Amino acid sequence: MIVILDSSTTENSEEYRQTLNYLSQLPTITTRVHKIQGARQTLTEIYLIGDTKSLSAEDLRALPGVERVIRVSEEYRILGRHRDEQRASGFEYNGVKFSQENLTIFAGLCAVDTPEHVETMLRALQEHGQTCTRMGAYKPRTNPYSFQGHGRACLPYTFELAGKYGIKVIAIEVTHESHIDEIHECLEQTGHPTGVLLQIGTRNTQNFELLKAIGRQQAFPVLFKRGFGITLNESLNAAEYLASEGNSRVIFCLRGVKTNMGDPHRNLVDFSHVPVVKRLTRMPICVDPSHSVGSREHSPDGILDLMHATAQGIIAGANMVLIDFHPEPTKALVDGPQAMLMGELDWFLQDVALVWDGYRKRQALAEQHQAKQHQKPAS
Ligand code: PEP
Ligand code: MN
Repeated sequence: MIVILDSSTTENSEEYRQTLNYLSQLPTITTRVHKIQGARQTLTEIYLIGDTKSLSAEDLRALPGVERVIRVSEEYRILGRHRDEQRASGFEYNGVKFSQENLTIFAGLCAVDTPEHVETMLRALQEHGQTCTRMGAYKPRTNPYSFQGHGRACLPYTFELAGKYGIKVIAIEVTHESHIDEIHECLEQTGHPTGVLLQIGTRNTQNFELLKAIGRQQAFPVLFKRGFGITLNESLNAAEYLASEGNSRVIFCLRGVKTNMGDPHRNLVDFSHVPVVKRLTRMPICVDPSHSVGSREHSPDGILDLMHATAQGIIAGANMVLIDFHPEPTKALVDGPQAMLMGELDWFLQDVALVWDGYRKRQALAEQHQAKQHQKPAS
């Protein structure tokens, strides 16, 4: 169960003390307090963990300072969308809004290789009005002898260039808890020219200790990728680890699942799960066409499979797209063959805008249909 306090009930108020005191004394129940930092106010949510069946929501609602009580289903307690749910989805970070209602593009390098390539990429993004990107520094590679990413060494110039080109948020994968400190230190040293969205890769979806460490920090929001060899339910439960430790600013990313049934794509594209995850949780949903499709093949219509997959995600309501671009894919140290070219950025963004407009029209159509259903006299 979740007990949501009135926004005016502050931590040092008498109401707060009384209610928390009462809840902490309930037998077989443990309480966990979460502070949700919104744009205008901080909300306090108290999670009641344990056997809550015998508790009356009405009684809890009557406690001092309580605004609302939500009875949650067992799964995805914090990130889930529950019955009688009215809590808003999403969050704002470094001036960029992430929610289930909008769309943000993260085009960039799979892995940082040279400062020149970073600069070419970021300049092009700025020219196209983009404020977010992806830049891999710590790469989880299948082969131990493959390039592992430049790690902390590339962070200073990546952050400084991001500041120079007005980039507000960079998605950076972390594979070890120490990477969070490295990113933090480097942002401090460079004077916070940009923000970072910590990415958890598909190979770490169930690395519970890493998830707990990332969940314990509040500085950075998280881009969480589904596991490529586990069920959707298992991936959603893994995402909940982040929230259960205190960080509920999580974006859920679909990136395909591993099976030869997806051949010739690198993975079986799973973007039909966009509406499913939106229904089950309040997380904004990202799609990663690059790591799903994994090639630059195109169909006879001249449109790259990568762009078709992007469109499939957006037309189904995706809120973020993570996509590999590279100024010189033949020189890329990771995933060159699936990278889109700088000369394709304009085309890609126009295609995205077209499909997003299509999704908004589909939404309006659904609303019209529902309104008509309500007007019909019961027969
Ligand atoms: C990536 O985005 O660079 C990446 C390695 O993706 P995934 O974890 O989905 O394979
Ligand atoms: Mn990659």
